[in-house]
Amino acid sequence: MTHTSIHTQNSSSVTLTDNHGRTVDYLRVSITDRCNLRCMYCWSADGMQFIPHSNIITYEEIARLIDISVAMGVRKVRLTGGEPFARRNFLDLVEMLLTKHPDLDVRLTTNATLMNGKAKALAELGVRYVNISLDTFNRLKFQRITGRDMLRNVTRAIDDCLEHGLGVKINTVALKGINDDELPVFINFAKNNPVDVRFIEFMPMGSSSAWSESNFWSADEILSDAKKLAVLTKLEKKERRSGPAKLFGIEGGKGRLGLITPMSNHFCASCNRLRITANGQLRTCLFSDNEIDLRTMLRNPSITDTDIANVIHESNISKPLGIELLNAKRQNEVAETRMNAIGG
Ligand code: SAM
Repeated sequence: MTHTSIHTQNSSSVTLTDNHGRTVDYLRVSITDRCNLRCMYCWSADGMQFIPHSNIITYEEIARLIDISVAMGVRKVRLTGGEPFARRNFLDLVEMLLTKHPDLDVRLTTNATLMNGKAKALAELGVRYVNISLDTFNRLKFQRITGRDMLRNVTRAIDDCLEHGLGVKINTVALKGINDDELPVFINFAKNNPVDVRFIEFMPMGSSSAWSESNFWSADEILSDAKKLAVLTKLEKKERRSGPAKLFGIEGGKGRLGLITPMSNHFCASCNRLRITANGQLRTCLFSDNEIDLRTMLRNPSITDTDIANVIHESNISKPLGIELLNAKRQNEVAETRMNAIGG
């Protein structure tokens, strides 16, 4: 397939600045909706409807979308899922992207249970940061939350990443009544290891997942609990290098504590990201169910990169303020599209 270079276009028509003056330079791509874990807040109690394989975007299609996005100013790409390591030959995709775009900041979000010694290869390919999702250090609780007895795989993968020089951020969904009792354990982990441990407020995603207001543990509560356990110093933006997370240094510690507050203190005004779902739909906001079908365009031989760039540009202009959608959703129940297809 021949792709028309979008560099030939008037650059002002392919930028990623929206009506609110925000500029996108970060793309999150869910490369599969399949996952080997069954996390209680992500997995539907009524079972999951997976995207048919033929509708999952191929690695070549992902690479093409990333070529187009890089030409539009994207500098950072996060590969997520489902579970990225659950998709066959995942490292081939990483290699494909970093060979073509050596300066691109390619990061991963993974549950790390299937990483199994792959940290070295990731580091050699040019990946510098890995986000690892981990909600508990208790083996039985891990099994209860995820449906799998695989905590040991995760802790081994964290060690492996650190050993190979990868920056590690631990993402922990803050779940009152489930992992709030482990705050001291998480803080100790961040004290003893050079990692960012970031609590993410539980978001209402997917109508039959286990979202409940009673499990909501707000960032304010976490911070006030954490201050009883350690001396924390708030880090300024330039010291943080951590996206929307509020970050705190821990006295005498190697790592840091972070709070990600999509619910209590949204960061819509500085949102710099677009998302591609596992079936090739563009989402301009995590909380908007409005999707733009890029997959059909990618599979139409008469559609050029310029056409796709124009659609991304046009869609991004009206990128919403997610908090308005989220507030509406909180009142009328929750978002329908599930995190495993969007990638968080
Ligand atoms: N399988 C990979 C992983 O576990 O990191 C990537 C996909 S997972 C959907 C991405 C992130 O979204 C994980 O950190 C997960 O904990 C988080 N997540 C899923 N559902 C969530 C919810 N309802 N509220 C907050 N975070 C959620």
